Amino acid sequence: SKYVYSFGPGASDGSAAMRNLLGGKGANLAEMASIGLPVPPGFTITTEVCTAFYDNDRAYPEGLREQVDAALAKIESEVGRRFGDKHNPLLVSVRSGARVSMPGMMDTVLNLGLNDVTVQGLAEGAGDARFAWDSYRRFIQMYGSVVLGVAHHRFEEIIENVKLDEGATEDTQLSAQDWHRVVEAYKDVVQAETGHPFPQDPHDQLWGAVGAVFGSWMNQRAITYRRLHEIPADWGTAVNVQAMVFGNMGEDCATGVCFTRDPSTGVNEFYGEYLPNAQGEDVVAGIRTPRPLSKSYAKPGEISLEEAMPQAYAELVRVRETLERHYRDMQDIEFTIQRQKLYMLQTRNGKRTAPASVRIAVEMAESGLIDQREAVTRVNPQSLDQLLHPTLDPKAKKTLLARGLPASPGAASGIVVFSADEAEMRAQKGEAVILVRIETSPEDIHGMHAARGILTTRGGMTSHAAVVARGMGRPCVAGAGGIHVDYGAKTLAAGGVVVRAGDTITLDGATGEIFTGFVPMIEPQLSGDFAKLMGWADEVRRLRVRANAETPLDAETARKFGAEGIGLSRTEHMFFDPERIGAVRQMIMAHDEAGRRAALAKLLPYQRQDFVALFRIMAGLPVTIRLLDPPLHEFLPHGEAELEEVAAALGMGVEAMRQRAAELSEANPMLGHRGCRLGISFPEIYEMQARAIFEAALEVETETGKAPVPEIMIPLVGMKRELDITRGQVERVASAVFDEAGRVLDYSIGTMIELPRAALTADTIAQSADFFSFGTNDLTQTVFGLSRDDAGKFLPKYVESGILPKDPFVSLDIEGVGGMIRIAAERGRGTKGGLKLGICGEHGGDPASIAFCEEIGLDYVSCSPYRVPVARLAAAQAAI
Ligand code: ADP
Ligand code: MG
Ligand code: MG
Repeated sequence: SKYVYSFGPGASDGSAAMRNLLGGKGANLAEMASIGLPVPPGFTITTEVCTAFYDNDRAYPEGLREQVDAALAKIESEVGRRFGDKHNPLLVSVRSGARVSMPGMMDTVLNLGLNDVTVQGLAEGAGDARFAWDSYRRFIQMYGSVVLGVAHHRFEEIIENVKLDEGATEDTQLSAQDWHRVVEAYKDVVQAETGHPFPQDPHDQLWGAVGAVFGSWMNQRAITYRRLHEIPADWGTAVNVQAMVFGNMGEDCATGVCFTRDPSTGVNEFYGEYLPNAQGEDVVAGIRTPRPLSKSYAKPGEISLEEAMPQAYAELVRVRETLERHYRDMQDIEFTIQRQKLYMLQTRNGKRTAPASVRIAVEMAESGLIDQREAVTRVNPQSLDQLLHPTLDPKAKKTLLARGLPASPGAASGIVVFSADEAEMRAQKGEAVILVRIETSPEDIHGMHAARGILTTRGGMTSHAAVVARGMGRPCVAGAGGIHVDYGAKTLAAGGVVVRAGDTITLDGATGEIFTGFVPMIEPQLSGDFAKLMGWADEVRRLRVRANAETPLDAETARKFGAEGIGLSRTEHMFFDPERIGAVRQMIMAHDEAGRRAALAKLLPYQRQDFVALFRIMAGLPVTIRLLDPPLHEFLPHGEAELEEVAAALGMGVEAMRQRAAELSEANPMLGHRGCRLGISFPEIYEMQARAIFEAALEVETETGKAPVPEIMIPLVGMKRELDITRGQVERVASAVFDEAGRVLDYSIGTMIELPRAALTADTIAQSADFFSFGTNDLTQTVFGLSRDDAGKFLPKYVESGILPKDPFVSLDIEGVGGMIRIAAERGRGTKGGLKLGICGEHGGDPASIAFCEEIGLDYVSCSPYRVPVARLAAAQAAI
């Protein structure tokens, strides 16, 4: 079978559609070559080889070597050089490339094919010995660290020493002889560290590098990245081998990285960075400060590529247009200019901030490049979180500490930490941390993830820190050169101000500013492109989106974010209010019904007030109110001191109090005396709540002329009889209230489906229910038979080792819990065709769970207010 796919000018075996087989990089190199862009020829070893490699004890499939030899010969004939030729050597790069880009996870080896002999040939051919020896030392350095595992700093030290000897400050000041010296020292280091001389045979070098790329698929950094991004291990990586082009052959050469639009803001301007006389990762490594691509982004004194190499720049601008038209999305491009000639080395859909993704999607739709439905699919619903992030209050007093590059937007305050491990540790304790590093590397990913914000003192907008932070949605200020970081002393200093580990600073990732101390923040604006995109999403989605809200503030936030009603209002949250808890406890302590009714009468006005507020804000939208759900002991005081205090306040003995608490305590409260079981034991509780709801609804109708739509929800029903009894209670209250008022109101009574028995008998329960709401938090607990409060001890391990693909409390377990929902939905609707179905619980804001809700035809999802935009967009995407 075919393991190797060639690409090159006008003739590629592969295409962009073959991403799974060729990896993203290989597939796009093939595609770019096919559409006539200047791509140096090469070949891709497929991801299937990677999978076979790991399935067969790290052995290659039969026939691979022959196919590689043939593909290599093809490159040789295309560029007119031979691999290992002493006069005219072909050099190649060996590059990894997974299906999805994993920035910095896999290492690239450049200039492969150089040895003590071919370096002479390279020097002769280029007429430039300095360039040849510089390339050779780069090769030994990359190959030495990536393939042979020699510590990077061993090489860096050598360069530093030679520079010191020569009085040079920049790498570019070193001569051919200097680099020759570096090469000799490098070879000694390799010999000393590995016990073997540096490999001289180009074929050995090639297979060593190929093995290292496949090997790196299973290194710790890659594994961590895959875990964080939910990338399956069996996807594997491809290996790309490509003829080298040289950006380090002199001042008419360059290498660069660019985006077809600004990845930070989404503005439709060509955005990028380059370095003259440089190679490969120089731009992103932060060793020299890169220069801007276009004049419009250049600061005074900076020479843009547009000015330095106008022809190559013009060519690049044409490529930008071709690529956007072809891929119909913003591209992230890597290029090299060799003696004024442009070569394309990579393209992929560019990572962008959430604001940029919204702007780009909207502008592309408005310019007709894509349609509105497509625009809706272009924005990751989860990333909307970032747009909803606060920004710094412009009116707040601020003390500027320093400035860097605005690498990833959003504002964050936190205490300064200097290492990724510490960031993770302190974040786990609940502290907000800002990770401060000179520069970041893939080893820091876990700390970046744990941090609220990231600050680096070196590197540009395409540095590791910037790229990763944007991907994660963390605010980031990069390249703040005015700050001096001292890891040893755990301090950072700027302009005479010293900040210590543990001190608070604030970052503004949108402006690049760094402030000392905490700065107040304000809520985001939800207008402009965001509103447009959400409008398009609302046009295509079928699922309604409601919010879980009980306080007026929650309800207002929900409306602002576009909620179409309340799907779950937990009345017990209202019971904890300090003004009311006394009456709640009095009710619990009462010896008889009369005592309970007296206490409940005190609560009634409060509850009515709560519902009046909700009904007003929701102005005629449906409001689902769940009657009391948790076991009563949750409302009792904890600890001796509090117990005594409460006993005194209620005018009862501590002993009696303690005894009542003991009576109420349960072995397994989650499955105990709660939900409708309480309503059946103490009907007066639900009666009070129902009265509060109906009286509030009538009051708001009188006040506004608009009738509220109360949906009363009975929790924890497992049997139809339970619903019949509680429904009867509520209906009797309704008629009493309506009699008193002399008018009636529409309302409905439904139940939560959160027990397997309820799901399985949904056909009979539906006879008494006007709607079902799937309480997926409890349903997950009861279907799995696992308590969420105890799951922390083993669930993370289950997810890590793949027993469960995801935390089922975050993303619905489609197979089990979802299966139960599917049964209940079918059986319920079998009884009542139009039975209204929704879900409430954390899952209502999770895109994957929402897609499932769409699939089985639920009517609405309900989630926390801040997730409402996420749910609206996810519901639209699920419908497309
Ligand atoms: P990554 O996946 O980390 O981006 P790449 O495989 O893209 O790694 O390689 C990194 C850089 O190495 C490229 O951006 C490019 O500058 C340089 N490079 C790779 N292949 C070649 C080549 N054939 N000629 C010149 N430079 C190359
Ligand atoms: Mg890399
Ligand atoms: Mg790259």
